[in-house]
Amino acid sequence: MDKILFVPHPKLRQQAKTIIKVTQSEIDLSKKMVDVMLSVPGVGLAANQIGILKKIVTVRIHDEEKKIDNTYVLFNPKIKSYSKKKIIMEEGCLSLPKQYADIERPKSITVEYINEKNEIIKEKKNGFEARVLQHEIDHLEGKLFIDYLSSLKRNIFIKRVKKLKKLGEI
Ligand SMILES: [Zn+2]
Repeated sequence: MDKILFVPHPKLRQQAKTIIKVTQSEIDLSKKMVDVMLSVPGVGLAANQIGILKKIVTVRIHDEEKKIDNTYVLFNPKIKSYSKKKIIMEEGCLSLPKQYADIERPKSITVEYINEKNEIIKEKKNGFEARVLQHEIDHLEGKLFIDYLSSLKRNIFIKRVKKLKKLGEI
């Protein structure tokens, strides 16, 4: 299984490349990503996080009360518009295990992506799903949630992850 990269791995800071056409190799890759994401478990994964610089994001939106369990893949996802309204939500990241912070972002977005049949999909997303997608799409640009914090806080988070790794706790 492909391992998830932790900060400060340079691949997490690189830009992922646009996919010209979704072929079997991208589909296979996305399946692998879904496996990695579900095994952790996580709610989202960007290809950068397993060291692959392609614009692929996987998400799992799970809500037992609402009986929602939706896992899907987005190729070349792009945010087309943001709501003016912003909300604060706590975020974490598989590349920064055990680190959490309150981050303010737009409440809803319109996302455009292609699916495995190379169809263009444009959808409005709200709340938690909009949050996960904004976080994951940032990864494709080499951006992390800690970039929304002060540099002091950001460095503390990175140091903590390095320490956890050194101690063999992650
Ligand atoms: Zn993340």
